[in-house]
Amino acid sequence: MRSVRGTRLSRTAVLAVLLAAVGCTVQPPPDPMARAHALAQRFVIVDTHVDVPYRLQNSDDDVAAATAGGDFDYPRAVVGGLDAPFMSIYIPADVDAAGGAQALADELIDRIERLAGTHPDKFALATCAADVLRARDTGRIALPMGMENGGPIAGDLGRLDHYRDRGIVYVGLTHSRANHIADSSYDLNERWGGLSPFGRELIEALNDRGMLIDVSHISDKAFWQVIELSATPVIASHSSLRHFTPGFHRNMDDAMVEAIGRNGGVVQINFGSGFLTRTAREYSDAQQAAFLRFRAQSGLEPDHPEITTFGVRYREQNPYPFATVDDVLDHIDRAVALAGIDHVGLGSDYDGVGDSLPTGLKDVSAYPNLIAGLLRRGYTETDIEKILGGNTLRVWQGVAGYGAARGYSPICRL
Ligand SMILES: [Zn+2]
Repeated sequence: MRSVRGTRLSRTAVLAVLLAAVGCTVQPPPDPMARAHALAQRFVIVDTHVDVPYRLQNSDDDVAAATAGGDFDYPRAVVGGLDAPFMSIYIPADVDAAGGAQALADELIDRIERLAGTHPDKFALATCAADVLRARDTGRIALPMGMENGGPIAGDLGRLDHYRDRGIVYVGLTHSRANHIADSSYDLNERWGGLSPFGRELIEALNDRGMLIDVSHISDKAFWQVIELSATPVIASHSSLRHFTPGFHRNMDDAMVEAIGRNGGVVQINFGSGFLTRTAREYSDAQQAAFLRFRAQSGLEPDHPEITTFGVRYREQNPYPFATVDDVLDHIDRAVALAGIDHVGLGSDYDGVGDSLPTGLKDVSAYPNLIAGLLRRGYTETDIEKILGGNTLRVWQGVAGYGAARGYSPICRL
């Protein structure tokens, strides 16, 4: 194709010349990143697992302002378009075993109440799905809370009511070890063969109260029992797909992902590289083995400085294989293929997985990078809206509605 001057022009350029001749101009194609940023602001982004409470417990960080460390703070959340990061009320298994679970849970909830109370222009506690939308309408970031490890319930439904009253929206049944409710995916000792007798009772109690059940961290047997017993859809608040990390039971296998789809729930994909790629998993396993060897050979006490800096030195000598945005997209693609577009969401685990986040998804300002990737892979805006938060809000509302029909009206704060 030649222009009148004899130089070669692209088809688009020729079209532009022709249209200009009849008084039209050609708009340049929209910048994909600009479009992704616009969508991040337009759509509700719900992230079902952010470990800010535990971070606040262990640092003086003020997340209402820009912070040097960590993955979450208000300014970065605004850039990322994040509307509702679920604050994880995380109870380590050893705290639970030592009898400190209830005190820690209340302390972490206090911290989030204080954060919202001190900065009412930036944050708002959110205890029902409508709160998320109201916070957003008033220019604030909603802070719903989910419990990670049901230890604080201590076999007492009165305690469950206490945490519901305090604003807990979902309950993750276990963490890294079996507790009084269920077995854990990380714990080879199967105490219950799935759910404990109280765990079975708790499923019905959570259903009745309109609270979400989080199946992340529980053993496979416990998962299948929950699926069988729960009258309402469940969530996997921060789990990825085992297909990509064979043998890593903390992730969900294909049959489990399909079951979540049939159940009407949502799998919220975890961004930690160790949840995403086999390479990062193998790295973690090798590092752990090297650590145990070093401890055995050195004979050093656990609190010796060389023991505590082992991880840093190991990383200097062995660069960490960070995953990429495309790895997260691969998990989303497969989860969508298995469970359906209505059953996939985001559960980053920001502030919970250390320095293992993928290149391009290092903190809460980065959701637009993920959105750009979804657009690149052909997801429609409707699909993207569902993945970012629509699916999670739908399940949250539905489960709360089930509770309302049983006399437990949703508790809204706004
Ligand atoms: Zn977790």
